[in-house]
Amino acid sequence: MDAKEARGEAPEKPVEDWQKRAPYKIHESNENFKARYEASCHCGRVKYQLSREEPLDSKLCHCTTCQTQHAAPFQWAAIFHKDDINFSNGHHDLEWYDPSSKSIEHKLPCKVRCSFCHSPIMDEGRNMILLFPSLVHLKNDEDKANFKPRCHMFYSQRVMDIPDGLPKWSGLNDSSELIEDSPPELVREHERKREQERKEKHEKEEKGEKDEKK
Ligand SMILES: [Zn+2]
Ligand SMILES: [Zn+2]
Repeated sequence: MDAKEARGEAPEKPVEDWQKRAPYKIHESNENFKARYEASCHCGRVKYQLSREEPLDSKLCHCTTCQTQHAAPFQWAAIFHKDDINFSNGHHDLEWYDPSSKSIEHKLPCKVRCSFCHSPIMDEGRNMILLFPSLVHLKNDEDKANFKPRCHMFYSQRVMDIPDGLPKWSGLNDSSELIEDSPPELVREHERKREQERKEKHEKEEKGEKDEKK
């Protein structure tokens, strides 16, 4: 029995490995973490800060997993490094879900939610985190512009059309086809890049064949 138990208080839960690592590791005050944004879940038990001015990317995902997981026609996510976030509350009061294996263990990549109100907090990947701007307190037009979605992905799985002129990828961005009302110059650029890649692959194969014959 530890001292706390002896006083009738709940024993401290053991600190697990993930709690000591980013994104859950608490930044010490001497680390110079500058909070640019504040965010919280619906019940307010989970709170976090962000230090990066602009997310690495911001996109709307129309895949059916996002539709189900967020109970919405599509999901709005912003990508950050794991070191860009500092949980200020409730960061050990979380629950996990891995949509590919349908398990609730903490193994990456997985979905992370508040264990009380079940608001989605983030998708934790192996190297990055996808945060949901709807939880971030965006105070003015500048904040909103920083988080503005830059593309749609898995648009082929959409339940509704969003004719906003943003690039629309049929699957993953940059590795599928640009469809619907994607900006024409971007579509041309994408096709040019694809053609170049095909050519290089072809040349490499030809060179490989020649080398084999030598
Ligand atoms: Zn909550
Ligand atoms: Zn998705």
